[in-house]
Amino acid sequence: MPKKSSAKLRELPLIPLRDTVVFPRVTVPVIVKREKSLKALEAAMRHGRAAVVAAQRDPDRDDPGLADVYPLGTLVRVRELVKQDDKTVRALLEGEARVRLRRPGKEGSHLTVAAEPLPVPPAKKSDRAEALSYSVLNQFRRVVNMGANVPFDVLLVILNVTDPWLMGDLVAANLELKTAEKQAVLEARTVEEKLTQISRSLSRQVKLLQMASKIQADTGRELDKMQREIFLREQLKAIEKELGQLGAKTDGDGLREALVRTKMPPETLEKALKEYERLRAMPSYSPEQAHLRAYLELLAELPWRKADEAKIDVPEARRILDADHYGLEKVKERILEFLAVRKLVGRMRGPILCFVGPPGMGKTSLGRSIARATGRKFWRVSLGGIRDEAEIRGHRRTYVGALPGRLIQGLNAAKTRNPVFMLDEIDKVGADHRGDPTAALLEALDPEQNSQFSDHYLEVPFDLSDVMFVATANVLDDIPHALRDRMEVIEFPGYTEEEKLHIAEDHLIPKTLKDNGLDAKRLKFAPETVRAVIRLYTREAGVRNLERELAAVCRKAARRLAEGEKVQAVVAPADLPGYLGPERFLDQETEVTDTVGVVNGLAWTEAGGDILQVEATKMAGRGNLQLTGHLGKVMQESAQAAYSYVRSVAARLGVKEPFHKMYDVHVHVPQGAIPKDGPSAGVTIATAVVSMLTGRPVRRDTAMTGEVTLRGRVLEIGGVKEKVLAAHRAGLKRVIMPARNAKDLVDVPEAVRREMEFIPVKQMSEVLEAALVAPASVRQSPKTAKSKKC
Ligand code: ADP
Repeated sequence: MPKKSSAKLRELPLIPLRDTVVFPRVTVPVIVKREKSLKALEAAMRHGRAAVVAAQRDPDRDDPGLADVYPLGTLVRVRELVKQDDKTVRALLEGEARVRLRRPGKEGSHLTVAAEPLPVPPAKKSDRAEALSYSVLNQFRRVVNMGANVPFDVLLVILNVTDPWLMGDLVAANLELKTAEKQAVLEARTVEEKLTQISRSLSRQVKLLQMASKIQADTGRELDKMQREIFLREQLKAIEKELGQLGAKTDGDGLREALVRTKMPPETLEKALKEYERLRAMPSYSPEQAHLRAYLELLAELPWRKADEAKIDVPEARRILDADHYGLEKVKERILEFLAVRKLVGRMRGPILCFVGPPGMGKTSLGRSIARATGRKFWRVSLGGIRDEAEIRGHRRTYVGALPGRLIQGLNAAKTRNPVFMLDEIDKVGADHRGDPTAALLEALDPEQNSQFSDHYLEVPFDLSDVMFVATANVLDDIPHALRDRMEVIEFPGYTEEEKLHIAEDHLIPKTLKDNGLDAKRLKFAPETVRAVIRLYTREAGVRNLERELAAVCRKAARRLAEGEKVQAVVAPADLPGYLGPERFLDQETEVTDTVGVVNGLAWTEAGGDILQVEATKMAGRGNLQLTGHLGKVMQESAQAAYSYVRSVAARLGVKEPFHKMYDVHVHVPQGAIPKDGPSAGVTIATAVVSMLTGRPVRRDTAMTGEVTLRGRVLEIGGVKEKVLAAHRAGLKRVIMPARNAKDLVDVPEAVRREMEFIPVKQMSEVLEAALVAPASVRQSPKTAKSKKC
């Protein structure tokens, strides 16, 4: 193919397969476990479910790159995804076309590849091709007759297909060939080549099966006996059916008893037994038999009545919550109130709890503690990225590979009808043409309806009214409104450094030491070491990375001890680089000196608050404003407004030159890869531009947030608590904020409030006065702002 077209190829996620080759028009189930492949699958789900798969040359290679897979693979569509557990996903891939892997895509969390689809060669009738396909079909029949395991319906399709190219693919896909053999079939350029290749493989299969049958004959007597028995049983069944005697008495496998034992509601049992009779009447080779059996086994396993003895003992719950978690006083209070009300009301009905806050705040682990405190089991499903209603409500049984939805799967796994059921990341549920998962969730969470929850796979209603649902979310506003109405929201603000220190000392360190086979005698962390980890190796509202870094230290120490090295029993701050590598956040975000044109803004993200530096500079031009740093539309407009405000008051601020006729202004927000949006950087941008035009440096110990209007009024913004905590984390001392937001400061922990100065403002002029160093005190010559990163 010419280079030109290869340059335009679309980049797709690449999933290397250890020992499977996927053929076009064939659907294959695969189990995905490797981190990179899971990431690639996620990416595929975001991009129209398309991905490229290619077989590995060496199936034992754990972290293959593009060079380790065959250069010819298959474009697939992900038809279905089922999470088996936290680390395993079962995916149904449907082959669409052969593709040549042209060149690696962008580096990232998973492999990507620019792949070029290969057309199917035009069908040319030739005597040789006809003879070959005749011979392949004959060999295939022979292989099947000799016992190769090919499903009956597949066999029918293969025997009836008229296109020899497709027939070749189907035969190769359904036989147990070596990966290299299958790959050769996939790579064939012509029909003749493909059929010759298959014919060769089939001959080898025939030989293998002949050998196998010889071995069987040798050990045959035993087997013969068994086969006779099976045969006689089948006959017996047929005779019984003839006599109409099929019934409870002949239930050999215990399934019927198991169904009855579950004490499911009478109407449900009636339906289940009807299906059971249908199963018994089915010939054993029917492909439907396995599906129906799996369905009935699920019915027999589900906890229709099985429940743990749940109790609510409020003082005991308080003790457990306190033992498991440091701080979070308000949150614990709310949880205990919730439990107390439930106890008085006498049942679990009512709104469900929803924990909202950044990652690593202990939302999941509090869920576990609630389960412990109320004597229930704990089960968690992640709803992140779910767009298909069937994920919640299951597929109808007529659908190939149908499964129940996640709620029923979860209850089946929890083996009790009253667990604490955590719905993680409920804010990341979306809707599209595959239906709206929210509707199904609403039904599950609604106390009026959920005693009759209907799952498409189950077909019979299941009672969810005893389940204690707890949802978690990072962003309250992203939770669908209808769902939010049913929830009692409990917000988790970020932790302060002091709180993190306590959490680490009381909880994280003892836990990681134990997990790594260590104890406090062998390894201790000095408080200043923990503080150094918090400051120099993490920047987060929660403690997830802190936990990870502490675990990394323990792991390394454990390894050194195991290798017989001497390890200092007390980890000092100076030892940290040896364990964790160079410091990651040293002074990254704030300036060392007061600088012209560089301002500390404050941003709010899902992971808590963050410092957002804004830089402004000027160059010869005609008053244009250039904005860079991946800014969203709202932020761009607010920057325009800030700029217009500055232009309108420039003379008053002492800018003598008509700068809009002489310069272009460039405002940049570093960390350009991260998208940023919202109006609250207005005052920050205006201050950066004024500082740059007047040459007055900005105080480096100051951060600010607020929306600005064209007339310079400062308007209220959101996320004050998180922003203040971020400023505190970054070591800043003053925060300029809209006067109307002063009320939000009550949410900021007392310890932080004491250490910071808050400057409430109504007008932009007040911001400038508080943020800019007075002109008289300017010692250095005004210069164009420069970020330390540039
Ligand atoms: P989230 O669900 O909010 O993302 P996790 O529950 O996964 O957070 O918490 C991450 C880790 O931090 C867990 O090991 C948890 O036990 C611990 N943790 C978080 N907050 C606290 C706390 N206040 N006290 C004790 N441990 C905590």
